[in-house]
Amino acid sequence: MVVLAVHGGAGGDGPWRGMTDADPQRLACMRALLNDIGERLHAGTLDALEAVTLAVEAMENEPLFNAGKGSVLDASGQVTMDASIMCGQDQAAGSVIGIRTSRHPVRVARRLLDAGWPVMLYGEAADAYGEEHGVEQVEPTWLVTELRSAQWAKWKEQRLRPGATDEEDALLDHDGEQDGWGTVGAVALDASGRLAAATSTGGMTGKPLGRVGDTPLIGAGTWADQRIAVSCTGIGEAFIRTAAAHQTAVLHREMKIEQAALAVLDEVGPFGGRGGMIAVDREGNVTLPFQTMLMYRGMYCDGSVRLGIGPELMY
Ligand code: ASP
Repeated sequence: MVVLAVHGGAGGDGPWRGMTDADPQRLACMRALLNDIGERLHAGTLDALEAVTLAVEAMENEPLFNAGKGSVLDASGQVTMDASIMCGQDQAAGSVIGIRTSRHPVRVARRLLDAGWPVMLYGEAADAYGEEHGVEQVEPTWLVTELRSAQWAKWKEQRLRPGATDEEDALLDHDGEQDGWGTVGAVALDASGRLAAATSTGGMTGKPLGRVGDTPLIGAGTWADQRIAVSCTGIGEAFIRTAAAHQTAVLHREMKIEQAALAVLDEVGPFGGRGGMIAVDREGNVTLPFQTMLMYRGMYCDGSVRLGIGPELMY
């Protein structure tokens, strides 16, 4: 059995209000990558690690997700991106923080994983490492879309309102309007029983300069070992404080994957964190829970693809 599951971020409050005009494009991106990469996993021509790398790259290419081109803007109006990746077999990992010129942050993280040392790089040095290792470089402005500029302008206007608190200032990308969309991630189980996970993001609109969320932190936003692979999305600080991805792996030793994932989301909630996660175990059990209005998500499992945004997996 092979499995590939992806998420395109979580957010929003209250009942799901149905698809926006932009949702078909997001679903089309997920469907195409799940079909293509899923089939190659199924045929055994792709391993779990390359599958999650390619899946995340495909979503970094889609401007409607908050990763790569189309990332949200920080407090200064710039794109700064974080990503991480982990291989379950040997727990090799790679992670980058505050990337500004590498088109595919996850590929830079993957190059670090392949090299074996160091695990994490930040800022200009991470982009320079990407350039040296063949990752396409772009002008920082190329990553900025009109939509994200408009969201940022709205955030700035609201932030200047007297009485706004720091916590209210940083918006999860789906919170400002339902036409926001998110952080991306992938988990996979390949034909040889190996697991991998990867996550990539622009973070949160209006995040303070230098802020690091859960996405690049191994054990918080991303985790893979020989039993389970996990990728999270939501208010990063709460996922950091609960070591959410790793905690899911710990609980999974004693309980089913669905229960472990839900128990962790319940732990994250009281820390001010709302969000979701995707996880797969070595038996091919998959779970895609979230505690927000929506989570863009989909899975390929032995030839069939299913996608969801609101409560049901229905496309
Ligand atoms: N977890 C990401 C962060 O805090 C945001 C998200 O998942 O939408 O940077």
